Amino acid sequence: MSLPRAVAEARDPGSDLRDAARRLLLAIDEDVEREGLIETPRRVAESFAYLTEGYGVCPRQIVRKALFDHDGDDLVTVRDIPFYSLCEHHLLPFFGRCHIGYLPVGKVVGLSKLPRVVNVFAHRLQLQERLTRQVAEAIEEVVQPRGVGVVMEARHLCIEMRGVEKLDSDTVTSCVLGEFRENAALRSEFLELVRRR
Ligand code: ZN
Repeated sequence: MSLPRAVAEARDPGSDLRDAARRLLLAIDEDVEREGLIETPRRVAESFAYLTEGYGVCPRQIVRKALFDHDGDDLVTVRDIPFYSLCEHHLLPFFGRCHIGYLPVGKVVGLSKLPRVVNVFAHRLQLQERLTRQVAEAIEEVVQPRGVGVVMEARHLCIEMRGVEKLDSDTVTSCVLGEFRENAALRSEFLELVRRR
């Protein structure tokens, strides 16, 4: 038995997104029936749903499932994690690279999970500063290292496409917690590793 149409649509957030995309096209006086646009609301809905799918995922759960016992206490650094996000002010992309370092105490997290954590947070509407802090705090909370540092470098299309500033500027944000905050030598060791290309 198929669901009544209203119920089926209530369970399909895509229909709201398709409708919104269609209204956006109408608002700029486009012809939503012309060939090039006829499938556009569906495509916009699908890509927007993908780019915001991080709301439905718990990043702490990802880290928790991938913790391993580890004896060493040397700095662990993962560089150049690519990420793509949408700024919450303009719904335009910002994208770049994320660098993460932490000082383990008895436990490390599987390296492939850190990019996943970054991308779960990135696939929500974001500010780069908040994204940086959320990644650092999730690692701190679940891995419980002595310290954690996160640096993000990004280009913001809301700045570049709207011609607000010069085109080749990167925005760099950082968040340091625990010993990274207190210990200047450790902090510069991390930043040095991040900078080395
Ligand atoms: Zn923006």
